[in-house]
Amino acid sequence: MKHIVILGTGTAGTMLANHLFRVIDRTRFDITIVDQYARHYYQPGFLFIPFATYREKDIVKNIKNFIPEKVNSIQEKIEQIQPAANQVLLKNGMKIAYDILVIATGCKTAPHEIEGLAGKGWYDNAFDF
Ligand SMILES: Cc1cc2nc3c(=O)[nH]c(=O)nc-3n(C[C@H](O)[C@H](O)[C@H](O)COP(=O)(O)OP(=O)(O)OC[C@H]3O[C@@H](n4cnc5c(N)ncnc54)[C@H](O)[C@@H]3O)c2cc1C
Repeated sequence: MKHIVILGTGTAGTMLANHLFRVIDRTRFDITIVDQYARHYYQPGFLFIPFATYREKDIVKNIKNFIPEKVNSIQEKIEQIQPAANQVLLKNGMKIAYDILVIATGCKTAPHEIEGLAGKGWYDNAFDF
């Protein structure tokens, strides 16, 4: 049995878990998905909160509602990917061996990596989204 491990239950990880679950030969592949949080935040919905078009209940959902039951779901912080050993180390010490690893842990802005952006004027006349 081959093991597919997906890191992150954001939009990307959740969609991929559902897609793979439908298309793979499940007698040959197991899928595990890992995230530190039990809740999924529908980020585009954030924009509508200040206008009361959406309420918190519309955009914050239990992630288990979106992951197929036969996909193993683990709620824990990911500490380290150990590619030499084909394994992922979680904060609780658990190690998950993988054959195929999908990294879907999202992204963050890095204004300091763009020359001049984070200097004078940052959050005055230069902003991120
Ligand atoms: C206000 C707003 C409006 C937007 N509007 C649009 C739009 O109109 N159209 C559009 O296409 N996109 C829009 N986006 C962008 C879109 O929401 C994001 O691109 C998308 O949600 C990213 O999904 P993701 O799965 O890549 O990452 P994320 O949703 O960030 O998911 C990453 C997951 O990885 C987990 N994770 C990360 N590190 C660890 C760790 N060490 N241990 C355990 N878990 C970890 C996180 O907990 C998280 O659940 C908008 C975003 C915002 C904020």
